Amino acid sequence: MANMLHWDDPVTYIHSLSSYDRKMLKSLDAAGIGELLSLLPRRYDDYSNLTKISDLVLNEPVTIKVTIDEIKQAPTFRRRFTLIRAKVSDDSGSIGVTWFNQPWLLKQLKAGDEIFISGAVTMRPRFGKGFTSPLWEPIDAETVAAGNIAPVYPLSGGVKQKNLRRIIKQALSELEPPEDWLDEDLRKETALPGLGQAYRFVHAPESLEQAEQGRRRLAFDELLSYQLALRTARREADVAGAPLVAFDENFAKKFVSSLPFELTPDQKKAVWAAVQDMSAERPMRRLLQGDVGSGKTVVAAMLAALVHRSGHSAAIMAPTDILAKQHAQTLRRLLAPHHIPLVLLTASARFAYQDGDERKLTASEAREVLAQGRTVAVGTHALLVRGSAPPDLALAVIDEQHRFGVAQRETLVVDAREDGKVPHLLSMTATPIPRSLTLTMLGDLDVSIIRTKPVGRAKIMTKVCVGDTGRQYAYDLIQKQVAASRQAFIICPLIDQSDKLGVKSVEEEVLRLRKGPLQDLKIGMVHGRLSSAEKDEAMAAFARGESDVLVATTVVEVGVDVPNATVMLIEGAERFGLAQLHQLRGRVGRSTHESFCLLAASEDAGMADRLFVLERTDDGFKVAEEDLKIRGAGNILGLQQSGAPIFKAARPDDLELMATAREISQRIVQTDPDLAGYPKIKQRIHALRETSHRE
Ligand code: ADP
Ligand code: MG
Repeated sequence: MANMLHWDDPVTYIHSLSSYDRKMLKSLDAAGIGELLSLLPRRYDDYSNLTKISDLVLNEPVTIKVTIDEIKQAPTFRRRFTLIRAKVSDDSGSIGVTWFNQPWLLKQLKAGDEIFISGAVTMRPRFGKGFTSPLWEPIDAETVAAGNIAPVYPLSGGVKQKNLRRIIKQALSELEPPEDWLDEDLRKETALPGLGQAYRFVHAPESLEQAEQGRRRLAFDELLSYQLALRTARREADVAGAPLVAFDENFAKKFVSSLPFELTPDQKKAVWAAVQDMSAERPMRRLLQGDVGSGKTVVAAMLAALVHRSGHSAAIMAPTDILAKQHAQTLRRLLAPHHIPLVLLTASARFAYQDGDERKLTASEAREVLAQGRTVAVGTHALLVRGSAPPDLALAVIDEQHRFGVAQRETLVVDAREDGKVPHLLSMTATPIPRSLTLTMLGDLDVSIIRTKPVGRAKIMTKVCVGDTGRQYAYDLIQKQVAASRQAFIICPLIDQSDKLGVKSVEEEVLRLRKGPLQDLKIGMVHGRLSSAEKDEAMAAFARGESDVLVATTVVEVGVDVPNATVMLIEGAERFGLAQLHQLRGRVGRSTHESFCLLAASEDAGMADRLFVLERTDDGFKVAEEDLKIRGAGNILGLQQSGAPIFKAARPDDLELMATAREISQRIVQTDPDLAGYPKIKQRIHALRETSHRE
């Protein structure tokens, strides 16, 4: 072959792409060959190992070879919705297949055709046992003829499985093997394949074992570089040392007695553990885990007050403007009795609060206030970027940081101060991280857990509402609650990829509700296209009770505290992760009124099954364990960075690989702290750290 493809070449260099292929690649967001090949299969269809219809087990992905007995369009009552039903059989029996919204199938398939069907059989309330929108292949398809294992990629937009398989295969055949960043010794020690081979194994395996070997290699790379990034940042921090925060016991007592409530024992323990951490020279790295509503904010507030008391600055960071503003309001109340100044800094608002006064700041005034030091700052994580952080920053609190992973926040904090000292770090999360993961992935991070919520909270009644009947139940309940002067959130999922800000989703939902089910209610909305001021106004109006119902997407953080809201209706609940649903659920039940979380799910194909976990438990840890099984560690740890997830290959059950990566990273950092002997690894970590600064 004349020209080999390189890892960094643009995808358009792949030979013989049609214009359709090019368009498809664009929608994939994979600009380079490397990015394309990093798109990993979700699973594989094993055509060498076919199952008989009589042996099908519910919910287990299989491939079967069948003849189509009958195929036709079925009537439906929903607009813009087509339903194709088929009956297929092999010599052991027959089964139904349903495809949603694929009208073209009637042209491609007819009775008498022989096809492979891949998917899982599910039980559906109306139709019984069957396949729903399974993948299919004619039996003479190229993928099937060539190898017997076909990768199944996660798809988005208009990308077609078959085309993507063909293009990736083509790219692979033209690819010059990428340089391996693991050296010979490490490869031997871990018994993993080389990098080039790993990509071949993953995309064009000869057996499922081979596919798994390839995946494990890629997973190991992710885990090792992650561990190394974490460890090198920590080592830097340990070497640099942290500012000492002296503990003033009398002040602590005064602070506690100024609170409108008594701290729970877990809150006290968390404060005390952090106080001890901060009185040492080694920077604190503590993770504060506590379910939604467990009262993490007051812990942060008290620590910030203590830091201020000892003569330093503290910064509290939230992932969004709205949440930062809400924190500022809370802190303002808690700090005012002690005359501690507070600065709020977000993209849209800058305020200084002192002794009950509120003063708007210009950008340069805000910089000045921070530069003077000895203040408590609240804002988004931009606060931590070197040059804008207070010079005497002694404590950084990062709340609900889904945006980036532990390694990222660590590197941000390491670099925050100009004088090289490293602030203490408290990460707060409502996503309970299972213990197995904490140990392997978070390494030496200390953990505080708030297990018991403050007393006096009403329970949240959670109900999975399936189909139209379920939805009617939900609307009736909302009507009743509004009649009792309560309010409701309605969260809708994004309709499609192009609607990233959720404008269409929210507007269509509001229109639908106003026309029918909730026509007499006052409905407000929040979506990503509103300006920050408009969002605030919509939220504030809802908080003041001027609207009965607030329709929003999760793009917009609905972390705002509206105690009078007692209903959380989540549309398309099957599309969200359990942990995320649990978080959303926590937005109600913030008063003594009985609260409800309604999970509206479509009746298609048992999609709602896993949602019942939420009906059964309100323990965030149990929910997280379930979520972990289903979705993977990356999500749980918040490592799914917007745009660039760090873990694509690694899975939650890769505990052994995690342990190996941990061991090897420990050894490398001990023997060669500057990674001088591992230039390629160093480069990779550098890139990882850079992303955290760009985020
Ligand atoms: P989260 O952990 O989800 O961030 P918050 O810090 O927002 O929870 O606290 C939720 C609510 O509980 C707040 O209204 C807060 O004032 C209240 N709260 C916190 N701690 C206590 C406590 N010890 N007793 C009673 N109410 C508390
Ligand atoms: Mg919170």
